[in-house]
Amino acid sequence: MDDITFKHNPKQFCPLCKKNVYFMPRYPNYICADCIGTGTFTKDGKEISFSNVDFTGGFMSMVDGVKGSEHECFIKGVKCRADESRFGGIVIQPTK
Ligand SMILES: [Zn+2]
Repeated sequence: MDDITFKHNPKQFCPLCKKNVYFMPRYPNYICADCIGTGTFTKDGKEISFSNVDFTGGFMSMVDGVKGSEHECFIKGVKCRADESRFGGIVIQPTK
């Protein structure tokens, strides 16, 4: 593969399942929807979900129906951090 081909066909992979995902240079390590779909949990094992506050964005977490601002979660046992995506929605990446 030469350099020009590489630049026009960038590849990116989910860090957990290694599946080919949509290329997002700003989020080089984001976790794919399939892995997120297996469940996101707090460190004490409660289900946690993340969303924007409203259509203008913002970030919030939800545990047991309680809103919060927790960014840490575990997916497939891997510690991750969720954040508001620049383009709307939520992006989750493993914590380094
Ligand atoms: Zn994945």
